[in-house]
Amino acid sequence: MSKILIVEDEEALVTILKYNLEKNGFETSFVTDGKKVLEKLHTDRPDIILLDWMLPHVSGIEICKVLRQDHSLRHLPIIMLTARGEENDKVNALSIGADDYITKPFSIPELMARIKALLRRASPKPEKEKASYKDIVMDFEKKLVYRGKRIVHLGPTEFRLLEVFLGSPEKVFSRENLLTAVWGHAIHVELRTVDVHVKRLRQSLNAAGEKDLIRTVRSMGYALMSK
Ligand code: CA
Repeated sequence: MSKILIVEDEEALVTILKYNLEKNGFETSFVTDGKKVLEKLHTDRPDIILLDWMLPHVSGIEICKVLRQDHSLRHLPIIMLTARGEENDKVNALSIGADDYITKPFSIPELMARIKALLRRASPKPEKEKASYKDIVMDFEKKLVYRGKRIVHLGPTEFRLLEVFLGSPEKVFSRENLLTAVWGHAIHVELRTVDVHVKRLRQSLNAAGEKDLIRTVRSMGYALMSK
């Protein structure tokens, strides 16, 4: 049974989320204060976190940043709950490390679909132990990615994206191909979400100034390719 940590200060929404998530077979816990999140994460070890954007004391965005820098929490799937509908905020949430976002008010079936899709891509079941291209090596068992000797820090969505690229190096994937491979058919994701995650993957892979191995193919998509 997957465990979900709800981080939300609106108690009415916590009640609704708990009820519906438990009805759908999830185990839940919650905190209403941003300051208590880290402590709760270390004691509860959830499989996924629903993280409200606007929280007392520490914002969801700040929590998200902290989680992505924490060695033991980096792989934790994060869905941001945002009351704001502006495009910039959505892209901002994804670019600082969230895996998905959902805008309030949202429907429960929509949230369930997103949670299930994210859990699926966060626990890939690869057939091989390792995949590699040039100096990039992915170790599926340890959930680690290396660039040469350096460990590359990736969130679950970027990890899955790289896994897709490594499955067919030098193949050009359209954004639609990548959406289907990484996010699945079940949920609606905007095409530019793909661009945001590719950008993050690229930044992580090249963080020590390495050669960029992801190629943007104009009007076609992306490929893992040595130029
Ligand atoms: Ca709030």
